[in-house]
Amino acid sequence: MLRQVADGVLVHASEFCQSNAIVVPGRAGVLLIDPGVLGDEMACLANDLRELGQPVAAGFSTHPHWDHLLWHARLGAAPRYGTARCAATVRDRLPDAGAKARVAQLIPPDIVEQVPLDLLGLITGLPAEIAQIPWDGPQVRIIEHQAHAPGHAALLIEEHGVLVAGDMLSDVLIPMLDLNGTADPVEDYLAALRLLEAAAGDVDVLVPGHGSIAGADQVHARIDQDRAYVHALRDAGVPDDPRVGPSATFGQDWLPGVHEGQLQRLARRSERDRPPG
Ligand SMILES: [Zn+2]
Repeated sequence: MLRQVADGVLVHASEFCQSNAIVVPGRAGVLLIDPGVLGDEMACLANDLRELGQPVAAGFSTHPHWDHLLWHARLGAAPRYGTARCAATVRDRLPDAGAKARVAQLIPPDIVEQVPLDLLGLITGLPAEIAQIPWDGPQVRIIEHQAHAPGHAALLIEEHGVLVAGDMLSDVLIPMLDLNGTADPVEDYLAALRLLEAAAGDVDVLVPGHGSIAGADQVHARIDQDRAYVHALRDAGVPDDPRVGPSATFGQDWLPGVHEGQLQRLARRSERDRPPG
């Protein structure tokens, strides 16, 4: 079911991990951001759009993680975009048909059969100098940053006062850092939060990739909560954060010990970076 969350912006929620697919009506169809997870849910979304008489004019994936790269044949053959870095990462990680079997191993076993992987990751990278999504509808500004995943993008729909945050600023998931290959994942994450904070001035509605929609009064609290978590992680302190612990795993065992895992990996990195002797 499509739910209006702001003037000109609708959300289709997925049961998996409180995921939000975002729909922005344009002049000749909608922009569809992070379409959803389960095949049935994406088919339901396609039906909803058909009832509205709105084809999909363009798609966008906020980042190169499997749950943001899916698509359903009934959503049609519109161009699907991501940042250039996002698209390059998809190409690296999905070089061949066998890669999909590896992706399937990342999907919780209880839903893997319901996740259609045939159209996974078919996205076109937008050159870094393009600041807006190229489509016939409200201007959508791309705010790229290096935080949760390579080429992660938040999207600002200024005309409607909506910030689409991708996998940042969730009320149910702690910040998950990109610990693969970046020189300073903690500082990258803090820089990304500063960038989002600078963009959030006139935002009325924040839509995270997973979790609840936030109003204007909660946007800065979400940013502060993420920053406090990242500071605690950096200082190996104990975060006072309701998202840490069993609730952060949705009672499932697919994401066990995310916080402990990040602590350990950061500790190993600083061990490695320490000068010898
Ligand atoms: Zn992600």
